[in-house]
Amino acid sequence: MTDQTRNRLQQRYQLVLKRIHQAETTAERTPDSVRLLAVSKTRSAEEIALLAGLGQTRFGESYLQEALVKIDQLGDKGVEWHFIGRIQSNKTRPIAEKFAWVHSVASLKHATRLSQQRPPGLPPLNICLQVNTSGESSKDGLSEVALREQFKAYTALPNLSIRGLMTIPAPAAGNAAQHAPLMRLRLLRDELKSAQIPLDTLSMGMSDDLEAAIEEGATIVRIGTAIFGPRQYNQ
Ligand SMILES: *Cc1c(COP(=O)(O)O)cnc(C)c1O
Repeated sequence: MTDQTRNRLQQRYQLVLKRIHQAETTAERTPDSVRLLAVSKTRSAEEIALLAGLGQTRFGESYLQEALVKIDQLGDKGVEWHFIGRIQSNKTRPIAEKFAWVHSVASLKHATRLSQQRPPGLPPLNICLQVNTSGESSKDGLSEVALREQFKAYTALPNLSIRGLMTIPAPAAGNAAQHAPLMRLRLLRDELKSAQIPLDTLSMGMSDDLEAAIEEGATIVRIGTAIFGPRQYNQ
């Protein structure tokens, strides 16, 4: 990494932290109530290490093979790994073994495997259930109907801690269109949470809608491009 690259990464990172704090203030949220998940898919272990050196602890990865290489390179020294990508049934074991969080659980079969494969001695795997808030324009995530029907079954799995809900809204033009799916996720969370299962997490908000997500109650925003710049898939 050149000095210029290093400086630019540092500046972008500080700017994202500033956007989060500003949005917390505007939304009259408690300061530091929103956690930043740095989405590091396609980015190098070196870039991750630089951000970790600046105090960033949470990193999100979407592609399992790529993530496992970086986890090996960086270990867990101060870094908490979150899996946010599409889950394949035959690849749940390394996710259960290497990650602290999974944001993209949308099938009871996957959840059951993750619970069975979570190594004894590790704390429960933190889970967000992914919800399809965009209807037919997206195939990813549980429908609201399926979520309501299956919610109890997810919470009964012994080695998982169901922390909340996650969504990836379809791209939306305009403020109201941006807010609608984010608000739906919050209302669903409010409906499902209980004293036993407090659902303290709303994983929503990416580079383009982080302010809207914080206004709607996001507790974890997942930011890639605004920190690292455009993704380079050929690297
Ligand atoms: C890539 C990705 C992000 C980050 O998106 P940006 O627009 O680059 O901030 C967030 N969440 C998920 C699930 C992703 O795959």
